[in-house]
Amino acid sequence: MSGERILVVEDNALNLKLVRDVLEYAGYDVVVATCGEDAVRLARDCSPDLVLMDLQLPGIDGHEALRILRTDRDSPAAAVPVVAVTAFAMEEDRARAAAAGFDGYVEKPISVRVLPEQVRGFLDGGSRG
Ligand code: MN
Repeated sequence: MSGERILVVEDNALNLKLVRDVLEYAGYDVVVATCGEDAVRLARDCSPDLVLMDLQLPGIDGHEALRILRTDRDSPAAAVPVVAVTAFAMEEDRARAAAAGFDGYVEKPISVRVLPEQVRGFLDGGSRG
């Protein structure tokens, strides 16, 4: 068990359960948020080691949540790795996520088999899933 904490931001209940189950099985401490506002709050309050951020969310979206996190220099959450999770498989969306400052990119549909390796890579730094 790694004990590392992952904040999973996802508004779709089935996707959220899938990701949570896979990551908990892999030994991670999983915290969940279902909207951008909660994502920002929990990123600041729960000291995650990594954030998996769905881009399409009710209220503020994943891009806006990331921007808010990165802007608050007084919070350690400003430096936490944030990985974009999106169904958009277009190169353009990949580029936009990178330009927005996301540390990586995971495509939906989530692969139960590959996700733990992807998360491990992001935690170890720089590996693109
Ligand atoms: Mn969504």
